[in-house]
Amino acid sequence: MRIGYGEDAHRLVPNRRMVLGGVAVSSEVGPLAHSDGDALLHAITDALLTAVAAGDIGQLFPDTAPENAGRDSRVFLQRALSIVRAHGYRVAQLSAVVVLDRPKLGPYRGRIQASLAELLGIGPGEVGLAFKTSEGLAPEHIQARAVVRLVPQ
Ligand SMILES: [Zn+2]
Repeated sequence: MRIGYGEDAHRLVPNRRMVLGGVAVSSEVGPLAHSDGDALLHAITDALLTAVAAGDIGQLFPDTAPENAGRDSRVFLQRALSIVRAHGYRVAQLSAVVVLDRPKLGPYRGRIQASLAELLGIGPGEVGLAFKTSEGLAPEHIQARAVVRLVPQ
């Protein structure tokens, strides 16, 4: 098997939509980003790519490329998954942490878990999510960290 780790962070600003794990989250602030700023999908994408030593999200999808502006981050994840498959592996498990002071993500847990399970082609029981606050240390940021376990196809 192989293990991959990834992390991501974005500054939160007014008048931006918040999407997390492919799920729209109701919030007064959203991530400042070239793409849709889905920090959780970005961390998972890097976890997938690093698991097979295939570079990182910034190499594959430069934030200077106009076609990546406002882009749905599920596209990045799907591309990383196809690279994982090309290396002969599939995802068996995800464990991820999101650090966000507000809004509270608890009410979104089921939907985010289901979204990630569908995107990764695994059962919701293989999608572990921890939602934390920064305890006021980084109230203007969203941070995500993810570990994936890959097994041979
Ligand atoms: Zn990001």
